[in-house]
Amino acid sequence: MNLKIGQGIDFHRLETGLTLWLGGVRIPSDKGCVAHSDGDVILHAICDAMLGAAGIEDIGHHFPDTSDEFKNIDSKILLKKTFDLIKKAGFNFINADCTVCLERPKIAPYVTEMRSLISAILETTSENISIKATTTEKMGFTGREEGVVAMAVVLLKK
Ligand SMILES: [Zn+2]
Repeated sequence: MNLKIGQGIDFHRLETGLTLWLGGVRIPSDKGCVAHSDGDVILHAICDAMLGAAGIEDIGHHFPDTSDEFKNIDSKILLKKTFDLIKKAGFNFINADCTVCLERPKIAPYVTEMRSLISAILETTSENISIKATTTEKMGFTGREEGVVAMAVVLLKK
C-alpha cells in the first residue's frame, strides 16, 4: 500500500461581531475569525494536511489570499477544490484527525454536523473524519480569546 501522511495547521484572529465558521458549520458566538475567506481553521488545516500528504504545495499557493476569487469564500468550496487537486495527483482520501483549540464556545454540539459535512465533500463516511476540541486552560492567545488554531493529520492512498 502506498500511503502518504500529511499535517496541517491554521490560525486566525478572533474579533467581536464577525461570524464564526468551524468545520463548515456556522457556530453561534459573539466573536468570529478575521480572514480573507470565511476563516474556517478546521477546514483550512485539513486542506493543508491533504496537500502536504500529496506533496503539492500548500493552501496559500493554490488559493492565494490576494485573489478576489477567494474573498469571503465558503471554505467548503476550498475543501472540495483541494479534494479535486489530490485526486488529480492520483490520491484517494483515507482519514483525517483534527483538533481545534479555542476557549469558547463549546463545539461538541456541532461535531456530528461537521463530520457529516466534511465526509460528504471528501466522498467518505463520518467515522473517517475525527474532530476534537480542547482549550489552553485560559493560557496564551487562545486562552485570551484572541484567536483560534486547528491542527489536522490526513492519510492518503496513492
Ligand atoms: Zn485559514
